Amino acid sequence: MQKSEHYVFMEALVRRISEQDEEALKFQEEFYRLQAGLAGERKLKATLEDYYFRSDFEILYNFECTNPRGFTHQIDALLITPHFILIFEVKQMSGSLYYKPAVQEFYRVTDQGVEESFPNPFDQVYRHQLFIEQLLRQTAVAIPVRHIVVIANYRAKLDNAFEAMPILHLSSLPKFLESLYEQYPDTMLNTRQITALFTSIQQRHPPRRRIEASRLKTGVFCKHCEALGSMFFYHGTWHCKYCQTKSIDGILEALQHYRILIGPHISNRAFRDFLGITSRHAATRLLLKLNLEAMGHGKSRYYVIPELIVYE
Ligand SMILES: [Zn+2]
Repeated sequence: MQKSEHYVFMEALVRRISEQDEEALKFQEEFYRLQAGLAGERKLKATLEDYYFRSDFEILYNFECTNPRGFTHQIDALLITPHFILIFEVKQMSGSLYYKPAVQEFYRVTDQGVEESFPNPFDQVYRHQLFIEQLLRQTAVAIPVRHIVVIANYRAKLDNAFEAMPILHLSSLPKFLESLYEQYPDTMLNTRQITALFTSIQQRHPPRRRIEASRLKTGVFCKHCEALGSMFFYHGTWHCKYCQTKSIDGILEALQHYRILIGPHISNRAFRDFLGITSRHAATRLLLKLNLEAMGHGKSRYYVIPELIVYE
């Protein structure tokens, strides 16, 4: 299952953000929520892999696209069968979940008794459904489109007010899929053709945040003791000053962090600042070894960090 660009960004950010940064805790909490979301999607995937579909099918996980009005959609999973299309919104929440239908308010009470309200997941997923119905109408495909909110945490309790709503525990999903097959017995479309339509508009959304390099911790992590900035560069090798581990390619992860958090272009100066190298010559030698593509001349010279980077 592919992580979103935003997930990758937040993952690098929580490793690199300075501990003193006033938003460090906020970023950490946001990343915990993203991790929980991904864990929920993985559980959904496992449940669907275990289910015997009555027809051929395709599932697109973490489906991202932009609608013709320029607004984005991020769908946890999209199930395409010849009988119906089902849009999943996965919630990995603990505690007791409550719903007030009159005001469409969605909130939970944690096991510690703390009450928190959340954006109503039904509105979110219904918005996806309207978009997909519109898209299919344009291509003259008539097929039922449904949505479901799946609670991936089996210990979460659902209030009775949810009874009439499209929400269920993950363990009830097979029963729900069976009921959809019974409700829609007719074969309406070619699964492959519709999947091709969706993948043609699929895109990877950029991270929803930006960060200034000055707010990040610099240096190279030691893979052994995990201490950041503990590695210093000496005679062509990185050495950890705490555990004495030596590493040739410790630099690669740091450069990936730079590419993810700041961008793919790095100057000799930024390279030295970010990695904690004092010598310009050592930096130039390293850049040569990394075989990074160089652009521009003189002071405006910069190097391109590729997605996959190898140290020779
Ligand atoms: Zn170490």
